[in-house]
Amino acid sequence: MTQSSLFATYARADLKFEKGEGAWLTTNDNRRFLDFAAGIAVNSLGHAHPHLVEALKEQTEKLWHVSNLYEIPGQQKLGERLCAHTFADKVFFTNSGAEALECAVKTARRYHYGKGHGEKTNIITFDGAFHGRTLAMIAAGGQAKYLEGFGEKAPGFLNLPALDIELVKSSVGENTAAILIEPIQGEGGIREISPVFLKELRKLCDESDILLIFDEVQTGVGRTGYLFAHQEYGVEPDIMAIAKGIGGGFPMGACLASAEAAEAMVPGTHGSTYGGNPLAMAVGNAVLDVILEDGFLQNVRDTSLKLKQRLAAVRDAYPDIITEVRGRGLLLGLKLTMPPAELLAACREEGMLAVPAGDNVLRIVPPLIIGQEEIDFAMNALEKALDKLSASRKNTH
Ligand code: PLP
Repeated sequence: MTQSSLFATYARADLKFEKGEGAWLTTNDNRRFLDFAAGIAVNSLGHAHPHLVEALKEQTEKLWHVSNLYEIPGQQKLGERLCAHTFADKVFFTNSGAEALECAVKTARRYHYGKGHGEKTNIITFDGAFHGRTLAMIAAGGQAKYLEGFGEKAPGFLNLPALDIELVKSSVGENTAAILIEPIQGEGGIREISPVFLKELRKLCDESDILLIFDEVQTGVGRTGYLFAHQEYGVEPDIMAIAKGIGGGFPMGACLASAEAAEAMVPGTHGSTYGGNPLAMAVGNAVLDVILEDGFLQNVRDTSLKLKQRLAAVRDAYPDIITEVRGRGLLLGLKLTMPPAELLAACREEGMLAVPAGDNVLRIVPPLIIGQEEIDFAMNALEKALDKLSASRKNTH
């Protein structure tokens, strides 16, 4: 390994990508890979989507950045469109998912403060959650491996060990401000949360005057075949954090809220130098142009069905390695009988990229624009990788 000037925080694969087109990536030494990782559920429309390229090019020649000291028409436009298609009335733009969640938590606490209940600051979260890497969000996620060595855990987060409604009810107290949950836990291993549980959380929040926050950073913007995952279940939050897919690869996020929840976020309570800058807004609006086209989300659902059927057949053929196919839309996971690293490496050797997740899951999160060619290539690569893995396991046993 050559000495690197970079922080050693990432265990990077030895691949240098130079170019992308659709669901395909090419390295500097001209090897082609099928990208079923999509920048970890970010490149919703694949690489170099013509409409996104055009929108960004056009904006780069006009104006990059002015700060939030001035009106930014692209923010108004994207904000209005996000509100028109969701429960929300108000939007705050950020640069990342963790920042969108920080805004969500601040909004929930200010809501209670505005009502004269500054003591209501606690946020209930769940085992297996992942909400980002800021100091507050590692406390929200509550996972020891992300908290270790970073000093006292930020106060105000109560991590419950199970998705048990009775436990949630008994954990709500005088200081509870909100409940924060991912409708499908992404990093945690594509763990679907039952709609019944989400409905019960909604009911509990209404009864106790606490706010429901959905983290749709990974599940949002078409990933599950719906614009937002919760829309399939008919359970609405008061506040929602989004990021990843909305930028299609341009760093951006947003915190959406109902008018009531956002009421106490008055001038001076929050801000961001870059959040919602003209470049990000041009891309975010362009992503929505495509995702909101007639038939786009239906096509994601149809593609999902085809891919899931093929994955189920692969699971049946390799029951000693794959025990379950999980997920919705194009946020899918293979639950394995071992950590996913070996299978991931074997897939990479066959020209296919995927992502590890917790709970021994190999995550499959392709761009939302894939078709039959990509499904066929992926299944062929996966089967070859599984053959190699089974053979090497038999030899070692
Ligand atoms: N929330 C969820 C559900 C995520 O999957 C992620 C990132 O993987 C985050 C929050 C943090 O987003 P970011 O890395 O953009 O800060």
